[in-house]
Amino acid sequence: MATTKDYYSVLGVPKNATQDDIKKAFRKLAHKYHPDKGGTDESKFKEITEAYSVLSDDKKRREYDAYGQAFQGGQPGSAPQGGPFGGFDFSQFQGQGSPFGAGFGQGGADFDFGDLFGDMFGGRGARERAPRGRDISIDLEIPFKDAAFGTTRTVLLAKVSTCSLCSGSGAKPGTELETCKTCNGSGRVHETRNSILGQFTSVRTCTACEGTGKIPKEKCPECKGHGVHRKQEEIKVNIPAGIDNGEMIRMPGQGEAIKAGTAGDLYVKIHVKPHATFRRDGANLIMHLPVKLTDALLGTTVSIESLEGKTLEVKIPPMKRAEELLRVAGKGIPVDGSRGDLIIRLEVALPHKLSGSAKKSIEQLKTEGL
Ligand SMILES: [Zn+2]
Ligand SMILES: [Zn+2]
Repeated sequence: MATTKDYYSVLGVPKNATQDDIKKAFRKLAHKYHPDKGGTDESKFKEITEAYSVLSDDKKRREYDAYGQAFQGGQPGSAPQGGPFGGFDFSQFQGQGSPFGAGFGQGGADFDFGDLFGDMFGGRGARERAPRGRDISIDLEIPFKDAAFGTTRTVLLAKVSTCSLCSGSGAKPGTELETCKTCNGSGRVHETRNSILGQFTSVRTCTACEGTGKIPKEKCPECKGHGVHRKQEEIKVNIPAGIDNGEMIRMPGQGEAIKAGTAGDLYVKIHVKPHATFRRDGANLIMHLPVKLTDALLGTTVSIESLEGKTLEVKIPPMKRAEELLRVAGKGIPVDGSRGDLIIRLEVALPHKLSGSAKKSIEQLKTEGL
């Protein structure tokens, strides 16, 4: 069952408190714990707003009085934020401006929490954060060898990029920019709203100049004055040596551009095609090498091709067992400036057919107890 939180004691009011008392008590506490007023205890603030949301609503208050906190939805435990917000996600307000534009102030009784929280949590800190373009993520498949030794790839992306004709100013080349009259060049517009907690001033990006503070006298014909536009762009991706399947390359600023703010990032997820001979194990390469029965018994030297295509002479000592691995140092994958080893697992290949004389010789071996 849900924890039984006493909303009355949270607000410090008696059970028979009037709506006026409740509102006053909440206002006082909200001021104290309000994040914008230097209050640091967000959980306390949530608690009082939760209590207020219930007690300020006559219907909810009656249900609460009758059933306690468990009345909320009948699913205690599934709504960790507490019922009245219905899984209200406070974190979503951290990174944006007020998501609730209009709708506030049409009557004090019908209190709009969303709006209040938009003001509070989309507050000062968030406002200062520069706007940022969208991140893009793409997938790229590369051959095994390229992943081992590194490579570059050029990819063609359709994305919002800075206009190359006006370099992002939005002005037709040769024409000037003038100060935005809507925001007087600040790029931001202040909005003051009244709430029961007093006046709140929120700041939003000026839509007229998209936050730049300047407006072109004549718009750039390429981007229609936006400074950015969607176009195809070739992007060179440097893939470092030793990259493994599933690893991600982050390219800062190569995501989508935005007029006033920084571009997003490009994430390139690497898929490595399997190799016919080699398999990767960390920095080491593993391969299977079939050897003839006689070679396994008597030992030999075989030529193999390394990953980079060079011929390697590998000495197989006599009686080398398959489970004893052969190691060629420094012929594996380059990782962090050093290179792993090539590890060879022998596979003794039995002949498909024995000639009469071969059979005789082996029978001879058998008599020797082999
Ligand atoms: Zn403006
Ligand atoms: Zn342009």
